[in-house]
Amino acid sequence: MRKNTQNIGKSTQSIWGGEQEHELYERSTQVPVVHSVSFAYKDIDTWHQVALGQEPGHIYSRNTNPTVRAFEDKVKVLEGAEAATSFASGMAAISNTLATFLRPGDRIVSIKDSYGGTNVIFNEFLPPLGIEVSLCETGDYAQLEAEIAKGCTVLYLETPTNPTIKITDIQRLAAKAHAVGALVVVDNTFATPINQLPLELGADIVLHSASKYLGGHADALGGVICGSADLVKQVYHYREINGATLAPMDAYSLLRGMKTLKLRVERQNDNAMAVARYLDQHPKVDQVNYPGLETHPGHAIAAQQMSGFGGMLSFSVHGGLDAIKTFLPRLNYAHMAANLGCVETVVGPPVTTSHVECTAQERAAAGIPEGLVRYSTGIEDIDDLIADLAQALEAL
Ligand SMILES: *Cc1c(COP(=O)(O)O)cnc(C)c1O
Repeated sequence: MRKNTQNIGKSTQSIWGGEQEHELYERSTQVPVVHSVSFAYKDIDTWHQVALGQEPGHIYSRNTNPTVRAFEDKVKVLEGAEAATSFASGMAAISNTLATFLRPGDRIVSIKDSYGGTNVIFNEFLPPLGIEVSLCETGDYAQLEAEIAKGCTVLYLETPTNPTIKITDIQRLAAKAHAVGALVVVDNTFATPINQLPLELGADIVLHSASKYLGGHADALGGVICGSADLVKQVYHYREINGATLAPMDAYSLLRGMKTLKLRVERQNDNAMAVARYLDQHPKVDQVNYPGLETHPGHAIAAQQMSGFGGMLSFSVHGGLDAIKTFLPRLNYAHMAANLGCVETVVGPPVTTSHVECTAQERAAAGIPEGLVRYSTGIEDIDDLIADLAQALEAL
């Protein structure tokens, strides 16, 4: 490991973390993309030692690969974790983690507002395996604490949520979960390690869709989990056998993107705050969901557990989906697309993004108005973003 990467700032960590000198090829300054399925040895004894994990090295890239390892190490340093392992996507990180720790007869407690794909795992794939899933109202601590107290194997949290941007108190619920011996897993995709460190708040495992803020450029899919060496080893073992491995080229794209993580996220925090304040006073906007606004119900907890309020917000306009169909295409500096967390501003309604698989009734039941817009703030100049919103809202 390059010098000490623990007691340094997040920008220095994101640049130098995980970059091991002995792996830099021919004195290159950048981590090489090692496109090699296997690694060859000159003698059987060394090969055997590496295969047994008794000497450092790589055997086969489904298990480990130098470029992928550098990516894992960088995230590990940023999350302040003992270990990390990576996956082909965020959903692979989530499904492999749940498959590692849940067995028939087990119980998992979570919130109703988790990411759409995670919600499908909870509702469609876990129950047939004999796993009981208890999904609570996000923010209803009485219900969450009662469900945890009944006993569970895993408490699974995500904060802030998508697209409602609700906040959950990680420290409070982690303590309740540990009291019944449960493992606490937190999806930190929206906050990033720049704004929130779930392991410090009591989580056992923190995970990411690296396809979003970590990579930051919407050009590579990936997932990653961090935690204690023991827990990460168990999930790594499931993934090395089941094969949802991150590809070296994608690991490289994510590594390069991560070098600017703090610069990007701080800019996105600032831009999102300014956009939220602008929309909040706009006569054509109904409601703005952003934890940085003092009126947000989770503002106090967010101010405590986050060091920045993040780049994600949502808002609803008068006139529902029809209004959105008029307003969103008029934006000049925003992709209408399903992803988030990249340098460009990205917008979309839940009907085509997070809640595409729900009926209008189900969205209404989840408290998601048809006129909601999810707004992933990019790193553009803030005056341009606000002028763009102003001219587009004009059409309503
Ligand atoms: C996108 C996303 C995921 C899934 O990640 P993929 O890389 O698309 O598989 C999981 N959780 C959250 C919060 C996300 O935004």
